[in-house]
Amino acid sequence: MVSIRPGPPAARTATRWIAAGGKHSFRASHGPLHTARGIATGVAIQKPTVDFPGPPNRLPVAPPIERNILRERKESIKQAKPFSDFLTDTFNRQHDYLRISITERCNLRCLYCMPEEGVPLSPPAHLLTSPEIFYLSSLFVSQGVTKIRLTGGEPTVRRDILPLMQSIGTLRSKGLRELALTTNGISLHRKLDGMVEAGLTGVNLSLDTLDPFQFQIMTRRKGFDAVMKSIERILEMKNLGANLKLKINCVVMRGLNERDIIPFVEMGREKDIEVRFIEYMPFDGNKWNKGKMISYQEMLDIIRAKYPDLRQVRGHKNDTSKTYEIPGFVGKLGFITSMTHNFCGTCNRLRITSDGNLKVCLFGNTEVSLRDLLRKDNNGQPIDEEAFEAIKRVEMDRRQGLLGDETALGWGERERELLEVIGAAVKRKKEKHAGMGQLENMKNRPMILIGG
Ligand code: SAM
Ligand code: SF4
Repeated sequence: MVSIRPGPPAARTATRWIAAGGKHSFRASHGPLHTARGIATGVAIQKPTVDFPGPPNRLPVAPPIERNILRERKESIKQAKPFSDFLTDTFNRQHDYLRISITERCNLRCLYCMPEEGVPLSPPAHLLTSPEIFYLSSLFVSQGVTKIRLTGGEPTVRRDILPLMQSIGTLRSKGLRELALTTNGISLHRKLDGMVEAGLTGVNLSLDTLDPFQFQIMTRRKGFDAVMKSIERILEMKNLGANLKLKINCVVMRGLNERDIIPFVEMGREKDIEVRFIEYMPFDGNKWNKGKMISYQEMLDIIRAKYPDLRQVRGHKNDTSKTYEIPGFVGKLGFITSMTHNFCGTCNRLRITSDGNLKVCLFGNTEVSLRDLLRKDNNGQPIDEEAFEAIKRVEMDRRQGLLGDETALGWGERERELLEVIGAAVKRKKEKHAGMGQLENMKNRPMILIGG
């Protein structure tokens, strides 16, 4: 039995986007949103400079901007829907966080992520098109996803990343609250302003060392200065009022960058940054071995030797990292402990790979293709903007009663099928992933082809 969650079908959302964007432009319907909150949601609410005193002897009246926000909040509470069964697994984990890999390509070659010779790339026609990514995003948001992260490969190398983010940004009106990016920061500084306008709310930037020579060893490429430029631009934008979270992801490998742990910790003395140290994980082609991995406990010991006051702070329930602070420091520290302490119990993530497979666990090798189902009515061909135009026309006709429910494209049917496939995959999600001993021998994609 399929029970579709009430609310506008995502195909209609896609339809509106196409209607607004036009055939060749692939643009968001409104461009940067000028809302009561400022430009897009990426920018913090500016307090009005003028005071609005209420009439005497009455409760103070909220200024118009705050009244709008209150009204929006009340509206969203009124519209809140029960969480979708399709995104709830048998352990009652509700998956409201979707990570989408938007490219297999990268401008770095990190030692821990991919083999030196690179990885075989999928033929372009196997990769999701931007309309398909938008469509799947809107489908998941219609089911209760509130956070989308774009990753890769290196997401900023995708040519149309800005219009893609603008279009996904429009899903804020459908319940999307966070639009985040995981990036190596090499070319981020060139695109960041546009991304913030599109609604970007968080950046996880991968940087494993503060030494430019070590950077070249770990990434097999140059680019340290460009990454620092991106970090500076993010901090500048935060100072200007952008509502943008910055986290630095640092994979720690023995014999390579454990010396960088303390310099990274010290970045947080004055900078409002969270640095997250990641235990080195095994993936296909990354030559993992236990000896190269530095455990969470060992990292804590290294930091405590210099900063004995280091203390754990309470994090958010779905956090994958354990958060710490050092009294007097502005920044925070985090540890992603996938190898020594799994955090499967509170996992709320799903992943879509660049070639359109749904992956319910980073360490699980079972995948289902959403792409093939999505393209069934397009003769298996990639759905470009033109094909979406056609779907839109048919859908509009259907809604005006000009066509029956079963259209030539069968879109309504297809959407139901997609949700069933997604729901079945989510229900198959295991309680927890394999432990360290098994993971290293398990077949999985290289990390670059999963999207971390
Ligand atoms: N290119 C982007 C970047 O580097 O941030 C996004 C994709 S990358 C695959 C996503 C994250 O996975 C990065 O933070 C990276 O450090 C992490 N990662 C890759 N291989 C890893 C491994 N073997 N162990 C732990 N983390 C890994
Ligand atoms: Fe590229 Fe990110 Fe993998 Fe490094 S970790 S090779 S930057 S995808």
